[in-house]
Amino acid sequence: MFAPREWDVARTASLAAEYDLAISASLGLTDEVNISSEDEDTVRRGEEHLTTVLQILHELGSSYLCGVIYGPMKKRMGPVTELEVRNGQAALGRLAATAEGLGIRMGLEIVNRYETNILNTAAQAVDYVRQIGAGNLGAHLDTYHMNIEEPDMFTPVVAAADHLEYVHIGESHRGYLGTGSVDFGAFFRALQLVGFDGPIVFESFSSAVVDPQLTATLGIWRNLWRDSADLASHANTYIRTALRSVETISLH
Ligand code: MN
Repeated sequence: MFAPREWDVARTASLAAEYDLAISASLGLTDEVNISSEDEDTVRRGEEHLTTVLQILHELGSSYLCGVIYGPMKKRMGPVTELEVRNGQAALGRLAATAEGLGIRMGLEIVNRYETNILNTAAQAVDYVRQIGAGNLGAHLDTYHMNIEEPDMFTPVVAAADHLEYVHIGESHRGYLGTGSVDFGAFFRALQLVGFDGPIVFESFSSAVVDPQLTATLGIWRNLWRDSADLASHANTYIRTALRSVETISLH
C-alpha cells in the first residue's frame, strides 16, 4: 500500500467478499514519510501516511498491517542514529494505539541490510518492540531476508515467538518455492514448535506484474516467472503441504 489514496477501497472490499478472502497489507516507507527521521515534520508526514493506511484497512475489514513501516525501505549509507530510533519508536507507539482502536495488529518486517539499517535480525526486532511495549505491535519475519541475515531458519522464530505477528514466505531468489536455498523444513518446524497462528503469506516478485517503482527498489533485475496465477497456486500447495507435514511431528 505504497500509495494508499490510489486504492479503490469499494472494489477491493467487494472482491474480497466475493472470493472469501481476508485482507492484510504491507508497505515500505520512503524518505518523504520516514517516521524514524530526525526531522519532526517528516515524522509527522509519515504518521499521517500510516494513519491513512490504517483507516483504509479498517474500511476493508482488515486486521493486519505489516512491512517496513518503521523507516525508509532502501539502502542506507550509514548506521541508524539514536535519535532516529527514538523518533521511530515514539511514532510507532502512537500508531499502535490508533491501530488498537481499529482492531488492527502491526508487524514490523525484519529485512536485509540493503533495505534498512534499523531491523535486520529477529533479536534486534524483539528488543525494539519490547521497548515500545504495545500489545498489538510485534515482529514480521520473512524467510528471504532471514536467509541473508540470520544464523539459521529455526532459532530466530523461537527467539521472536512471543512477539511474532506475521510471516512472509519467500525463496532465496524470490521465485518459485523449493527452487532456491531457503531451509523451509527448519522454518516450518519452528513455526509448529512455537504454535504460530498468525498469517503466513507468500511473497514473490517479477517486473512482469509488480509496480515498477517497487521492482526497482527491490532490485528485481531478472524475472523468474510471468504467470502469477500459476506461481500463487504452486505456493499455496507448497505452504499448505509444509504446514500439514509439521502437524504430524510432536514438538510440544
Ligand atoms: Mn517480505
